[in-house]
Amino acid sequence: MDKKNFETNAIRNQMERSQFQEHSTPLYLTSSFVFEDAEEMRASFSEENDRNIYSRFSNPNTTEFVEKVVQMEGAEDGYAFATGMAAVFSTFAALLNSGDHIVSARSVFGSTHTLFTKYFPKWHIETSYFDINNPDEIEPLITSSTKILYAESPTNPAVDIIDLELLGNIAKKHNLLLVIDNCFATPYIQQPIKFGADLVIHSATKLMDGQGRVLGGVVVGKADLVREIYLFSRNTGPALSPFNAWVLSKSLETLAVRVEKHCENALKIAEFLENHEQISKVKYPFLISHPQYEIAKKQMKLGGNIIAVEVKGGLEAGRNFLNALKMCSLSANLGDTRTIVNHPASTTHSKLSEEEQLLAGITPGLVRISVGLENISDIIQDINDALKR
Ligand SMILES: *Cc1c(COP(=O)(O)O)cnc(C)c1O
Repeated sequence: MDKKNFETNAIRNQMERSQFQEHSTPLYLTSSFVFEDAEEMRASFSEENDRNIYSRFSNPNTTEFVEKVVQMEGAEDGYAFATGMAAVFSTFAALLNSGDHIVSARSVFGSTHTLFTKYFPKWHIETSYFDINNPDEIEPLITSSTKILYAESPTNPAVDIIDLELLGNIAKKHNLLLVIDNCFATPYIQQPIKFGADLVIHSATKLMDGQGRVLGGVVVGKADLVREIYLFSRNTGPALSPFNAWVLSKSLETLAVRVEKHCENALKIAEFLENHEQISKVKYPFLISHPQYEIAKKQMKLGGNIIAVEVKGGLEAGRNFLNALKMCSLSANLGDTRTIVNHPASTTHSKLSEEEQLLAGITPGLVRISVGLENISDIIQDINDALKR
């Protein structure tokens, strides 16, 4: 089955049929599984056994979801989490010891940044930051304690791009684990393992579900690392629920067609906004004006669905624009069928100081547009009308 194309695998890789010969995967809402006898129960608890025991460890629905993502990313193994942040936290917590050091891009998801600055220092895990637009800063930050090199590409919310191949080479040279949050791209657009990533993290809440229904997260990558993360997680309990796994497995069947359309719409809107008199700046990876356009073209199949724009007039103009929208949603999510417009400085990244915000590319007037699947002319009309008001 594994040799088929991306879309086919996304649809046809599914668990074995039950005695009912169902076409669509059934939902296994069960907290535990039954043993034939005491000997089977004893054997199942030995760590080498991957039989389902208890749904905090594994469940047929979570396994199906994980296996789909493992295949899409070209990974060896994976584990699914209740949220993207559970995946991020558990990865670091499972792999790092007190005294270890992280080198991370400065512009990472807001809660990931909070983990690095507020919580990890409690366990004497420190983080040094590099500017994603200046990768020369990376190597001087690496010390004998550095264990993990961490980045997102494209970044949230400024859609900056980092050269994954370059990161892969640095990680290899210094014997670091390269961990990439691939949430904004999805495995349909970009597969970081090809460029040397050891682990890839996703918030499945975003484009993977793509319909704004469930929270979820997943980590895939090298089997020995995933094993550590699995053992940590089976004891600490951040597991994905079977129901959400079932929803997410279904969502992955349509990932390719959804992402194609998201990106087609996003490119058209980015081109429209680039010529709009109320907009001073547009950033979208597949616009030639993007500072890392060449790198984006090298490592991404499509430009993604997120556009960062600067509305002329700064904070006030940005707020007025949001208030004048009639159709696009003001919401904290992204990667939904619905177009969502967000003001990072006052919402997702409000915990950062003004200086940290600017360093992460978040100006007061920055507006993030997560382009949805509505008809393109309706999205453009709503945005254009709001900019005129
Ligand atoms: C949303 C997001 C997360 C966190 O995921 P949750 O499912 O909300 O916990 C992590 N990284 C990135 C890039 C995100 O966009």
